[in-house]
Amino acid sequence: MMTTSGMLIVAEHNGGNLNQSTARCVTCATSIAGARIDVLVLGHECSTVAAQAAALFGVHRVLTVDRPENAAPLAAVLAPQVAELAAGYGYILGPSTTFGKDLMPRVAALLGVGQISDLMAIVGPRAFQRPVYAGNVIVTVEVPEGLKIVATVRTASFKPTPDGGTAEITQARVDAALPSHTSFVELRAGGGGARPDLQTARIVFSGGRGVGSEGNFALLYALADRLGVAVGASRAAVDAGFVPNDMQIGQTGKIIAPDLYIAFGISGAIQHLTGIKDAGLIVAVNKDAEAPIFQVADVGLVADLFQIIPELEKKLG
Ligand SMILES: Cc1cc2nc3c(=O)[nH]c(=O)nc-3n(C[C@H](O)[C@H](O)[C@H](O)COP(=O)(O)OP(=O)(O)OC[C@H]3O[C@@H](n4cnc5c(N)ncnc54)[C@H](O)[C@@H]3O)c2cc1C
Repeated sequence: MMTTSGMLIVAEHNGGNLNQSTARCVTCATSIAGARIDVLVLGHECSTVAAQAAALFGVHRVLTVDRPENAAPLAAVLAPQVAELAAGYGYILGPSTTFGKDLMPRVAALLGVGQISDLMAIVGPRAFQRPVYAGNVIVTVEVPEGLKIVATVRTASFKPTPDGGTAEITQARVDAALPSHTSFVELRAGGGGARPDLQTARIVFSGGRGVGSEGNFALLYALADRLGVAVGASRAAVDAGFVPNDMQIGQTGKIIAPDLYIAFGISGAIQHLTGIKDAGLIVAVNKDAEAPIFQVADVGLVADLFQIIPELEKKLG
C-alpha cells in the first residue's frame, strides 16, 4: 500500500563507501514533516555501505538488494528494481548527480510519472522549488494528489545529515526482470585519479580557458595534489580539450557546494556561476579586472595565474 509520507532514497555508493550525496538527500527528505525515510542500497557485497546508510541520522530503515548484477551501478539494471520496490512509497528520491540523473528518469518512466529535477527546497508535502534558466529563475512545482513523486535532489542545496542513526537493515526481495540489453564491461579511471570527488569536496580549484592548455593544467593538478583538493574546470576548458568533461562545473556540468572555490582564468559566465552558487568562499584569479567573476567573488585577485600558482607553491614550501 502506498503511504504518502513513506520516502525511499536510492543510495549512491562505489561498492565500498556511501557517497555523501545520500546524506544530503536524507536532509532534504527530513524537511517533509512526518516523513518515514528508508534508504535503498543496490549493490553486491554492500554490507559496509548499508551500515553507513543505517548510521545516518533520520533514516528509519535500510533496504539492501545484494546481488552480482548490482555490482556496477548500471541505470538500466537498477531502475526496474527501484520501480518494483517503490510500490510502498509515496516519494522516491535520488541525488542530482551523474548517478541519479542517469537512474531516476528511468524509474519515473517505469512508474509512469514525470520526474522533478534538481529539487532545491521543500515548500509543502507536494510542492517543491527547482531552478530553471541556469538558476536565474526558481519555480515552484506541485505534484497532483495520487501520483508518486519521483525527484532528483540538488545536493548542493542541502547539508549532509550527520551520523547518529541506528536504522535496521533488511534484505529486500525483488522479482523484476532485469534487461539483457545492457551489461557491465569495464570501468576506466577518469582524469581525476585519486583526487576528491568534485561534488562532495570541501575545497575545489578550477581552471578555465585562461589556463591555456592541457599541459598547463598540470600546474593546477600539482598544487591541488599537494593540498588534497579536487580540481574542476569551465566548459571552455573542457571544449578546448584541456581536461575531460567529467571535470566541468556549471549548468551543463556539475553543481558543487565546496567551502572554498578558487577559480583560475575563468571569466564567470552565468552558466558557470550556476554551478558554484552554493559555494562558501569564492576566490577568483583573473588578469582582467572587468571579468564578471569578480562580481560574485568574495576575494578577487587581478593577476596572472602563471605568477600566482608558482607563488602559492613557494609559500607552501
Ligand atoms: C547552454 C549553455 C550551457 C553552458 N554550460 C556551461 C557550464 O556548465 N559550465 C561552464 O563553465 N560554461 C558553460 N557554458 C559556457 C559559458 O557560457 C562560457 O563560455 C564559459 O564558462 C567560459 O569559460 P571560461 O571562463 O573558462 O572562458 P572565457 O570566458 O574565455 O574566460 C577566460 C578568462 O581567463 C582570463 N585569463 C586569461 N589568461 C589568464 C591568465 N594568464 N591569468 C589569469 N586569468 C587569465 C581571461 O581574462 C578571461 O576572463 C555554457 C554555455 C551555454 C550556451
